[in-house]
Amino acid sequence: MQSTLWNVVTNSVKPKNVAFSKRILETLPSRLYSTTHDADLVVIGSGPGGYVAAIKAAQLGMKVVSVEKDPTLGGTCLNVGCIPSKALLNNSHYYHMAHSGDLAERGIETGDVKLNLEKLMKQKSNAVTALTGGIAGLFKKNKITLVKGHGKITGVNQVTAMSADGGSEIINSKNILIATGSEVTPFPGIPIDEEQIVSSTGALSLKEVPKRLIVIGAGVIGLELGSVWSRLGSEVTAIEFLPSIGGVGIDQEVAKGLQKILTKQGLKFKLGNKVMGAEKSGGIVKVSVEDAKDSSKTETMECEVLLVCVGRRPYTENLGLEELGIEKDQKGRIPVNAVFQTVIPNIYAIGDCIHGPMLAHKAEDEGIVCVEGIKGGPVHIDYNCVPSVIYTHPEVGWVGRTEEDLKAEGVEYKVGKFPFLANSRAKTNNETDGFVKVLSDKSTDRILGTHIIGPSAGELINEAVLAQEYGASAEDVARVCHAHPTCAEALREANVAAAFGKPINF
Ligand code: FAD
Ligand code: NAD
Repeated sequence: MQSTLWNVVTNSVKPKNVAFSKRILETLPSRLYSTTHDADLVVIGSGPGGYVAAIKAAQLGMKVVSVEKDPTLGGTCLNVGCIPSKALLNNSHYYHMAHSGDLAERGIETGDVKLNLEKLMKQKSNAVTALTGGIAGLFKKNKITLVKGHGKITGVNQVTAMSADGGSEIINSKNILIATGSEVTPFPGIPIDEEQIVSSTGALSLKEVPKRLIVIGAGVIGLELGSVWSRLGSEVTAIEFLPSIGGVGIDQEVAKGLQKILTKQGLKFKLGNKVMGAEKSGGIVKVSVEDAKDSSKTETMECEVLLVCVGRRPYTENLGLEELGIEKDQKGRIPVNAVFQTVIPNIYAIGDCIHGPMLAHKAEDEGIVCVEGIKGGPVHIDYNCVPSVIYTHPEVGWVGRTEEDLKAEGVEYKVGKFPFLANSRAKTNNETDGFVKVLSDKSTDRILGTHIIGPSAGELINEAVLAQEYGASAEDVARVCHAHPTCAEALREANVAAAFGKPINF
C-alpha cells in the first residue's frame, strides 16, 4: 500500500515536497493506510465549496462525510458573508428610496419613514437561518453524514473531528477534501472587538446606526457595507491605500464611474491614504492616517465605529498540514495542481484556502469539478470566465479582461459601449446611471471582457459569462434576440457597438 501511495506521490505536483512527503509516508503508522474506509470522501468545511462538493460527490455515488466546526452549515458565505450582506443591502436600499425622497418622486408618498434596525436585522437573520437549515436538509436528502467538530487530518486517509467538549471522532476515508475557507485579515495594532472596531462580521450586526463610520479599505466589503450604513444614516468615509476604489481586478473606467455615483450618494473617499493605527477613546475611535506617497502628510480622523476590511486570508488553522508535509505558499494558501490535488494525491483542496479569487461561486465550481475528477471525470475551470460583482447601487459586474489588462498584454481590441441612459427599461425605471462596456478582439471579434455598471449588473453579467465561456464573438451576442424592454438590451447594444462600430439606439 505504501509503495502504491508513493508512486502516486512521485507523480504529484511539487517536487520540492516530494522527498518530505515520502519520509512522512514511511513513518506514518500502517493503520493510516487502512483499506477499510468509512467514507469515500470526507469534506472538511461546509461553506459553498465544501457543501456543494459534498452533495455532488453523494450524487455521484460516493459515501460522504462532512466535518464542520461551526454550529451551522454554509460557511462564511451563508453565515457572515454573501447572504447577510445582501439582505442588508437590499433592505437598506428600500429604506433609502423611501427616506431620500426617491419614492416620493415616483408618486409614492409614504409619510414619516422610520428605520426599525432590529426588524431589519431580524429579516437578515431569518434569511440566514432558512438557508443554512436548507443545507442541513440537502445533506439529509443526499445521505451525507455530518460530523460536528474541528477537523484535523491525522493521516493520509484519516480525519479526526474534535468537538468543543473534548470528544473526538475518527473518519477513515479514501479521499479528503479541504474546504476550510478564509478569515478576516487582521490589521496589525488594531484589535477587533466587533463593537467599536469591527470586521465585516460585526458590521453585519451593529445594534445602532453609528453617527460616523470609517472604513479601512475601499474594496468590495468596504463599498458594500459602507453603502449599507450610509443609506441607514451614517456619515461614511472610506480610506483606501490605492488611488482607486473597488479592489483588485476592476476596470478603471468602471471604478471611476462607481466612485462618482457613490460620492453623489453621500459616501466620502480618501484615496491614496493608508491607515497607520487606531485607538479607542471614550465612545470614539481615533484613526491615524498617512498619505501613501508623502509620510509627512498625516491626520487624525474620528468615528464612532471603525470597519477593518483590508482583505481575507486562507484559514488552515490546526489542520495537520505541516505534519503531512503539505507546505503553504507565501499567502498561506494550500498549493494544488490542476485537478486540485495537494502533494498528497488523495488529499484535495478548493475554495478560499487555495489560489484564485475569494468568491463563493468560484469555490462551488471548484468543488463540483474536483469531485467529478475524483470519479475519473475531466477537471477544468476557466478562471478568466469567473465573474465578479459588487452589490452596490447600481451594481457592478465584470468578467474577463479589463482594458488595463489588454493594454499590458499588448492585445489589440475593440470597445463597444452603451449607456443605460439610452436603454428604454432603465429610463422607464429611472435607473439610468452606468453603462455596459464590451471588449472584443480586434481581428476575430471574440469577446475578451465585459464590464457593467448599472441596474441589475449582477444578473446581466451572467449572460456575458455564458457568451465568453462559449467563445462567442460580439456579433454572436448582437444577433441574439433579446426581450424588450429589458436592461439586457444594453448588453446587446454594447455588443452591437463592438461588432459594427455603433449601436442602434444611441
Ligand atoms: P467558507 O465559506 O469560508 O467556509 C469554510 C468552512 O469551513 C466554514 O464553515 C468553517 O467553519 C469550516 N472550517 C474551517 N476549518 C475547519 C476545520 N478544521 N474543521 C471543520 N470545519 C472547518 N462571495 C461571493 O461570491 N459573493 C458575495 O456576494 C460575497 N459576499 C461576501 C460578503 C462578506 C461580508 C464576506 C466576508 C465574504 C463575501 N464573499 C462573497 C466571499 C465568500 O463568502 C467566500 O468566497 C466563500 O464563502 C468561500 O467559500 P469556501 O467554501 O471556500 O469557505
Ligand atoms: P479587498 O481586497 O476587496 O479590499 C481591500 C482593500 O483594502 C484594498 O483595496 C486595499 O488596497 C485596501 N487596503 C489594504 N490595506 C490598507 C491600509 N492600511 N489602508 C487603507 N487601505 C488599505 O478585500 P475585502 O473588501 O476585505 O474583501 C475580502 C474578500 O471577500 C475579497 O477578496 C472578496 O473577493 C470577498 N468578497 C466578495 C464580495 C462580492 O463578491 N460581492 C463581497 C464581499 C467580499
